[in-house]
Amino acid sequence: MKKYDVIIIGAGVVGCMVARFLSRYKLDILLIEKEADVGMGASAANTAIIHAGYDPVPGSLKAAMNVAGNRMWDTLAGELNFPFERRGDYVAAIGEEELPRLEELWEQGVKNGVPGMVMLSGDEIRHREPNINPAVSGALWASTGGICDPFAVVVAAAESAVTNGVTLMLETAFEDFVVEDSRIVGVKTNRGTFGCRWAVNAAGLYSDDVMHRAGVRPEFKITPRKGEYYILDRAEITINNVLFPVPTPISKGIVVTTTTHGNTIIGPNAQNIQDKEDRSVTRDGLEEVWQGARKLVPRLDLRHVIAVFAGLRAGGNAPCQAPGVDYGHDYVIEIPESVQGFVNLGGIESPGLTTAPAIAQRVVEMLKDTGEKLEEKRDWDPIRRTRPRFRDLSPQEQKLLVRNDSRYGRIVCRCENVTEGEIVAEIHAPIPARTYDAIKRRTWLGTGRCQGSFDTPRVVEILARELGISPLQVTRKGPGSEFLIRPTKDVEG
Ligand SMILES: Cc1cc2nc3c(=O)[nH]c(=O)nc-3n(C[C@H](O)[C@H](O)[C@H](O)COP(=O)(O)OP(=O)(O)OC[C@H]3O[C@@H](n4cnc5c(N)ncnc54)[C@H](O)[C@@H]3O)c2cc1C
Repeated sequence: MKKYDVIIIGAGVVGCMVARFLSRYKLDILLIEKEADVGMGASAANTAIIHAGYDPVPGSLKAAMNVAGNRMWDTLAGELNFPFERRGDYVAAIGEEELPRLEELWEQGVKNGVPGMVMLSGDEIRHREPNINPAVSGALWASTGGICDPFAVVVAAAESAVTNGVTLMLETAFEDFVVEDSRIVGVKTNRGTFGCRWAVNAAGLYSDDVMHRAGVRPEFKITPRKGEYYILDRAEITINNVLFPVPTPISKGIVVTTTTHGNTIIGPNAQNIQDKEDRSVTRDGLEEVWQGARKLVPRLDLRHVIAVFAGLRAGGNAPCQAPGVDYGHDYVIEIPESVQGFVNLGGIESPGLTTAPAIAQRVVEMLKDTGEKLEEKRDWDPIRRTRPRFRDLSPQEQKLLVRNDSRYGRIVCRCENVTEGEIVAEIHAPIPARTYDAIKRRTWLGTGRCQGSFDTPRVVEILARELGISPLQVTRKGPGSEFLIRPTKDVEG
C-alpha cells in the first residue's frame, strides 16, 4: 500500500488550494477527485465574484475567511497567472424603502473589517452604471470586490500543486477511511487503498458523508442549494462592475455582472433541493432569475442569452462559534479531537471561492499547531507558467507563434478564436485536458454564440489523435458522456 503524508479528498477550488499551499512543504501529497477533471463541482458553476466581505454575519468563520481570503487574491493571481480583476462591487437599493438595508450592510462590513466601502447617492450610481434601473436610490460601493475566471483558478492551483510534486488521481472516488486506534491511517478508494498520516476533507457537497465516515459531527448535513444563471453574448449590454441587489435572508440575491471574458452573467436564485446531482435548470427558476435581474437592469434583452446553467451550493448546518451569534450555516474548518489525522472542511458554500486561499492557509496553520513539522522545500516554485492564448496576442506575436507552430494558425473555435495549437497544448499540459469540457474550461472554446456547434467534431478528432484513442472513446466530461455511439460507414473500405 503506497503511503502518503497527506491525502486530500476533492479537487475543487478548496482541495486544489490546499494542495497548492501544502506543496510548499516537504510532504508526500495525494489529491483525489472522483470526476474526470479538477473543478467540476461548485467551483465550475458559480458567479465568479471575489466578495469584499460585508455579507457574512460578523463573528462567523465565514466572515473571517472572506475578508482574509479577499486580501490574498492579487498575489495569488500574479503567481498563478489567472484572470482576476478587482473592479469593485455595488449593492444597489431600488426605491427608498431598500435604503436602510444598505446601512445594515455597511455596519456589517465595518465589523468584519472590510476596507474601501463608500455610500453613493442615486445620481452617483446612475452616472457610474448607465444601464442600472433609474429608480435606484443609492448604493454601497466596495472597492475590494472583484471577478475572476473560476475554472482558470482551479486549474492553476492544481497545476501549481502538481508541478511542485503533488500526485493527482482523477476518476478516483473516496469510499471510506482506514482507522486504527482512533487515528486515520488510510483512505479506501475505487482504485485501491492508500496510506496516509493526514486526510483532508474537501469534498464539497459530499463533505458531510466524508466526515461521517470519520465518525465526526453525525448531526452535520449538507442541503444542496441550487442557483440558476443566464449568460449573455458579449458586448450586448455594458455592465462595468458587479451589481448586487440588497440581499435576502438566505442569499446575496440575483446579481448582474460581467465575466473576465466580457459576457454578462445573471443569477443566481436560491432553491433548497435534495438531490446532490441535480444541476438542471427549470422554467420557473430561470423566470425568477430574469425578473430579479431586470429589477437591477431593466434593459436586459432575452434575445442576447447564449447559455443557461445551474450550480449547487454546499449549504451546511454548523452553528457559528462566536458567542451570542444565532447563525446556523457557518463553515466547518477544524482538526477534530475525536479522531486523529483528520482535517475537516465542511459546508464551504458561498463565498467559498473567495475564501479558498484563506482556508488553505488556515489548514497549514492548524497542522503546525498540532506539532506537525512543516519544512519548506528549497525548490518550491510559486509561479505557474501559462500557455499562449492566441486571441490575447498582438498581430506580431500571433505571426511569430504561427511561424514556430503552424497549428496555431488553424482556428477551431470561430466564436472565441481558439486554435488547434492551444488545444494540443492543453492536452499535453501538467494536468492533461482529456475531455471536451476540460479543453473548454481551459481555452474558453465552445462558449460563444454557437455553443460548440462548429468546434465539437474537430475537438473530438484532435483529442482522439493526441490521446491515441478511438473517437468513440472521446467524452464530454468523463465515462458515460461519449459523443459517438458507433461508426456509420467503414472508412477503410
Ligand atoms: C450558485 C453558486 C454561486 C456561487 N457564487 C460564488 C461567488 O460568486 N463567489 C464565491 O466566492 N463563491 C461563490 N460560490 C461558492 C463557491 O463556488 C464554492 O463555495 C466553492 O466552489 C466550493 O469549493 P469546494 O472545493 O469546497 O467544492 P467543489 O468545487 O464542489 O469541490 C468538491 C470536489 O470534491 C469532489 N468529491 C466529492 N465527493 C468525492 C469523493 N467521494 N471522492 C473524490 N472526490 C469527491 C467533487 O467531485 C468536487 O470536485 C457559489 C456557489 C454556487 C453553487
